[in-house]
Order: sequence, then C-alpha cells, then structure tokens
Amino acid sequence: PPDSQLLGRSTWTLLHTMAANYPEKATFAEQAEMGSFLNIFSKVYPCWYCADDFRSWLNKPENKPKLGGKEEFSLWLCGAHNQVNNKLGKPQFKCVDWRSRWLDGWSD
Ligand code: FAD
Repeated sequence: PPDSQLLGRSTWTLLHTMAANYPEKATFAEQAEMGSFLNIFSKVYPCWYCADDFRSWLNKPENKPKLGGKEEFSLWLCGAHNQVNNKLGKPQFKCVDWRSRWLDGWSD
C-alpha cells in the first residue's frame, strides 16, 4: 500500500487547497458537485482503514459538509482534519489560521 504519511500530507494539501479556491459563494450545482466529490473520495482514498474511518465520520449527520462557500467549507475541512489529528495524537490546528496557511501562503 502507499506510504500513508506521504499520501496523507499530499492529500490534505489537495483538499485544503481545493477548499481555499472554492467559490466565495457556491451555487447549488457547485455544492452538489463538491458533496459528490467528498463522498466518492471517502470510498476511493487508497489507505483503506483511513477511508473507512473517514467515511463513518462523514456519514454522521452532525458532520455533514458545509459547502456554501470557501470560508465555511475551509472551516469544515479544518474540523475534519482536526478530528483525524485527534485520532492520531497530533496537535489541533487553529482553524482561524486556515486562510494564511492555505490561501495567502505560509509553508512549514
Ligand atoms: P498532516 O496531518 O498531513 O497535515 C499537513 C499540514 O496541514 C500540516 O503540516 C499543517 O500545516 C496543516 N494542517 C494540520 N491540521 C490542519 C487542519 N485541521 N486544518 C488545516 N490545515 C491543517 N493516517 C493514519 O495513520 N491513520 C488514519 O486513519 C488516517 N486517516 C486519514 C484520513 C484522511 C481523509 C486523510 C487525508 C489522511 C489520513 N491519514 C491517516 C494521514 C494523516 O492525516 C497525515 O496526513 C499523516 O500522518 C502525515 O501527517 P503530517 O504530520 O505530515 O501532517
């Protein structure tokens, strides 16, 4: 199987960058497309135990993706990532920093 650290880091980069570049205010169609993407992503992510856990988290009503626009999508995704950080014993990311990390740029 792929290296789950490298795969994870690369995938979070893609996901957070997608959220940061999502429309300011998304149309109904754009929200539906991103919802489908996340749903399919949670089935095909090639770290199977990661995908299984992520899918169960995603399927809880309280974790439904917030896709109205980039701000709320980025904050939702930050919460999703923090939930994985929590599971892995990694520190929580401060979601107020999403914009400087993923849009305006700061690399670590
Ligand atoms: P990563 O967690 O990959 O984060 C990369 C960078 O994103 C960080 O350096 C930081 O700048 C930024 N960041 C961190 N947290 C946030 C946040 N909340 N919001 C915004 N930016 C943030 N690994 C496992 O071992 N077991 C699993 O079950 C597992 N499940 C995963 C599920 C998914 C959906 C994904 C995408 C990955 C999963 N991974 C899992 C991989 C894991 O999350 C990490 O990617 C991997 O351990 C490498 O961690 P890292 O320390 O390089 O930082």
